[in-house]
Amino acid sequence: HGVAGLLAEAAGQRPDHVAIIETGTEITLTWRELDLAAHAEARQLVTAGLEPGDRVVVRLPTSADFAVAFFAVLRAGGIAVPVSSQAPSPELHQLLVHSGARFVLEREPGAELPEGITALPPRAASGGAPVDFGRVGEDIAVISYTSGTTGPPRGVQLSHRALLANLDQLTRVDGQLEADDKLLVSIPLFHVYGLGPGLLLATAKAASLVLSERFEARRTLDDCVRHGVTAIAGVPTMYNEFAALGPDELRRGLATIRVMTSGAAPLHPKVLAAIREATGYDVYEGYGLTECAPVVTTTMVTGYPKPGSVGRPLPGVELRLVDSDGSSDEAGLDPDEMADVFETSGGTGLVSIRGANLFSGYWPDGAYGPDEQGWFRTGDVGYLDSDGDLHLVDRANDLIIVNGFNVFPHEVEEVISQLPEVAEAAVVGVVDERSGEAVKAVVVPADGAALSQQQVVDQCAEQLAGYKVPHTVEFAERLPHSATGKLRRLKLR
Ligand code: ATP
Repeated sequence: HGVAGLLAEAAGQRPDHVAIIETGTEITLTWRELDLAAHAEARQLVTAGLEPGDRVVVRLPTSADFAVAFFAVLRAGGIAVPVSSQAPSPELHQLLVHSGARFVLEREPGAELPEGITALPPRAASGGAPVDFGRVGEDIAVISYTSGTTGPPRGVQLSHRALLANLDQLTRVDGQLEADDKLLVSIPLFHVYGLGPGLLLATAKAASLVLSERFEARRTLDDCVRHGVTAIAGVPTMYNEFAALGPDELRRGLATIRVMTSGAAPLHPKVLAAIREATGYDVYEGYGLTECAPVVTTTMVTGYPKPGSVGRPLPGVELRLVDSDGSSDEAGLDPDEMADVFETSGGTGLVSIRGANLFSGYWPDGAYGPDEQGWFRTGDVGYLDSDGDLHLVDRANDLIIVNGFNVFPHEVEEVISQLPEVAEAAVVGVVDERSGEAVKAVVVPADGAALSQQQVVDQCAEQLAGYKVPHTVEFAERLPHSATGKLRRLKLR
């Protein structure tokens, strides 16, 4: 079956088990209720003229409505295009036009839409025959727009095969979500991390989802206690904010938790340690990309977290580190720059992935998909340690070249962040007449801390080679982040 078949199975196996609890509204749906609502909504789409393969934008927050709408689109034979419910109208307009969508599912239809696009509410009156157009395999289920951290958004085509493969790969890892778990998802469902290892994994297990539209550390911990949450699929910013509440609050709020995962951006070892110390539980860090539907590695494979590492590939996922050759510009990299990277830092390479979870190229023409041998070259540079665990160094595109020497921003950011006066630091390359590029640091001082530019420079000069030391330091109140907490370097630049 296709992805929508997961819902039919869950409803068949555990009709009266809670599928979704919405925090805030306290709306609760069983698997049977979710199944019926998705049939009704699918009927509405078919009646409105949806044809197989039509794109339907799902513009809804992390909520029961999102789940209903998502499964409805698939049952109606459509392709779901999840977008942020908060996307400003120019961005929404751009995605509507780019995806060639025919429908938008949203709560308050009424926004001005380009011609030929119809807005519909996410819930339709129930009754009538079930709808299931049964698209499967290589048919595209989802077009997921990447967060645009490095450039304009690209529509990643994910087939039913790819999404189901990643669920299968995930569930083959010991310690993963089980049928009696209650999984907290407070990250956006429109992002593939919330969608795959969140909504779809919970559906595959017919477990329960606790969906929280807005994250607020203390309130979210209250929700965890109230609903007896046992698992969390989170991002580093969430765990940072949990940890900042201190050990007592961590122990109280996470008392019923069994498993926590983090992905999308690096999790700070200090945060990992603070949570472990307070609760006795580890946060398992994973690495994924939209193009991989999305999970590639996790420390859950070995069963123990290793600070700084994102673990090992899921069963069924092959990973290798490749050198740059002429074709590396496919991933948007400059081959000359890449050659440099591998000369100077032995053992590092571009992370390449092969597996049934890979995407079908970018929308609309399927360009830049996996190569003839089935490999997809990510834009991430990493190395394997002596245990075979993967460490990510940086994105190849973020590399700064100073007088021909390579500077990976992450390394410099780590050093600056060690200063207690620093809340967050970002490092980018700026054009420099003499050295080609120069290192620039943008630093957010900790609340109330007195911090000078010289202190930042001295800290780097003590620990790093001269060419890595920031040429300029600028202070900022905050840094731009994506919905999953990733630093948006392009915007920062
Ligand atoms: P765009 O391509 O538009 O810039 P994006 O690359 O952020 O968007 P996503 O698919 O959301 O699109 O993010 C995937 C990227 O996130 C990976 O390539 C990697 O750089 C980063 N990433 C994911 N997990 C981790 C992790 N645990 N630690 C560090 N980086 C991570």
